[in-house]
Amino acid sequence: MRKILLIYTGGTIGMITNAQTGALESVNFEHLHAHIPELQRFDLELSVRSFEQPVDSSEITLQHWQTIASWITEFYAQFDGFVVLHGTDTMSYTASALSFMLQGLKKPVIFTGSQLPIGIIRTDGKENLITAIEIAAAQDENGEPMVQEVALYFEYCLFRANRSSKVSAHQFEAFQSPNYPLLAKAGVQLEWFKERLFRTNETALKSQLSLNNQVGLLKLYPGIPTVAYTSLLQYPSFQIVILETFGAGNAFSESAFQTAIHDFITAGGIVLNITQCQSGSVRQGAYQTSVFFEKAGVISGADLTAEAAITKSMFALANLPKEAIPNFLGTAVVGELS
Ligand code: ASP
Repeated sequence: MRKILLIYTGGTIGMITNAQTGALESVNFEHLHAHIPELQRFDLELSVRSFEQPVDSSEITLQHWQTIASWITEFYAQFDGFVVLHGTDTMSYTASALSFMLQGLKKPVIFTGSQLPIGIIRTDGKENLITAIEIAAAQDENGEPMVQEVALYFEYCLFRANRSSKVSAHQFEAFQSPNYPLLAKAGVQLEWFKERLFRTNETALKSQLSLNNQVGLLKLYPGIPTVAYTSLLQYPSFQIVILETFGAGNAFSESAFQTAIHDFITAGGIVLNITQCQSGSVRQGAYQTSVFFEKAGVISGADLTAEAAITKSMFALANLPKEAIPNFLGTAVVGELS
């Protein structure tokens, strides 16, 4: 019998409405379990590990990421796969972070959740959870786990986690991964796109739980006041600043902006350039408006999502020597950039 560990962190899937405030609040796993009798009918052994205090994923912290990663590490040998139930709001952040923290995975870690609580008749939670468990238990023709990476299952689609973003607050199709195609599609049967699945070169799980949050994120917009970027680029403890630039990695040529970038890099800071477009890639130097970045030593983040760029930076600061970070950020490590 395949053994799956279900990690419950909270999220809408397990929430009920507070009668006084009318707002959704997290409740414990037993509540959720009671609503899915199908969980008992699986031909596999399902164990559950739950946050003592399940949270709305807007409350997720780096310590929560470390807890999830440490549980997967602790139980890695005992289980064939892992399913993480998580709120949708920050699911792509947590799942991206775990893809860097748990390199060398040879077993599936599948994130899922729902847009409607499990107690609501039209909930999407049941299908999401049941299929996520099936995916975590799936094997290829050689009996190896089909998925050997951190993935995110939502509304019939299996995404590479560090390529995914939450794109809708009200549609059941809440996630997309515009820069990487689906790993699998759930219809009457699970349709696998095997050539898209990630396979590691590591020989064993390399669990690195340290993170460093001295990472800034700056979204550019026309008319941005000087102080909005200088306050970030001159903030003493930031070691990496991620710029969300226009189109293929472009920005205005304002001299105060270029000076702030130049000074930050000269002082030892790292600047990572990602696009604010949903799809496509940074191409520094393609336009005159990005030539400065290339000259100043800004790292191109290619088609990294913001979620992957932030978590990769937090991971890099905590686990790599400073001189190795620029190359690490611009290179694919766990399939997060093209
Ligand atoms: N606010 C909820 C959360 O992220 C939303 C959800 O789960 O869909 O925990």
